[in-house]
Amino acid sequence: MNPVEAHWLALEAGLADYLSRKGVVPSCRAGCFACCFGLVTLSRLEGEALLPHLTEAQRARLREEGPKRLALLKEGKDDPRFPSRFFRERRPCPLLEGGLCGVYPFRPLACRGLLTAGDPAFCQPEAQAPEGHFLQTPWRMAHRRMEALWEEEGQRYGFVVIGELAGLLYLLLEGLPETREEVEGLLEAMGVLGGRWGFQVVEYPLP
Ligand code: SF4
Repeated sequence: MNPVEAHWLALEAGLADYLSRKGVVPSCRAGCFACCFGLVTLSRLEGEALLPHLTEAQRARLREEGPKRLALLKEGKDDPRFPSRFFRERRPCPLLEGGLCGVYPFRPLACRGLLTAGDPAFCQPEAQAPEGHFLQTPWRMAHRRMEALWEEEGQRYGFVVIGELAGLLYLLLEGLPETREEVEGLLEAMGVLGGRWGFQVVEYPLP
């Protein structure tokens, strides 16, 4: 099995076990998609695992939305309020289809780890969610899997690329260059490298 898919499945199993042991029942439901307006990041390895599962329509939407997101990132990557501004714009993830995730079995770890047992009304972009609205342990579990994938990506490529979902999938569809210097050069030329919310290219072994 692809190592990324193994991490996706292992996280699902771990989350189910944790939630049942704690008696926590998430209020997340199909058709509830406010979190899909948010800024989602993923690593190159996750993007590459998702790519073969995309339909032509999804690829077309990524080719349309990816450059727009990269332009937004260029303008806002150093703004501390960028994620909240982005969220309030309610730009749906280009993989959202009729209120459902169009890649549900292959969605990134970041999407899997964002859960609430609270009132879904507090997930809306305009809402002031109370502290602890989003469950912290599931998010930490997802984050540990992300770190494991960064490690695997570093071993495979010698460096790790992390960035916004639609922008990164668009770049992968177009073809990322091979070396770290070339990838950094491309992202730098696009104005989306580094900063608080821009793409991160991290050397491997990880510092
Ligand atoms: S990949 Fe799926 S779950 Fe994640 S933001 Fe996009 S539509 Fe939502």
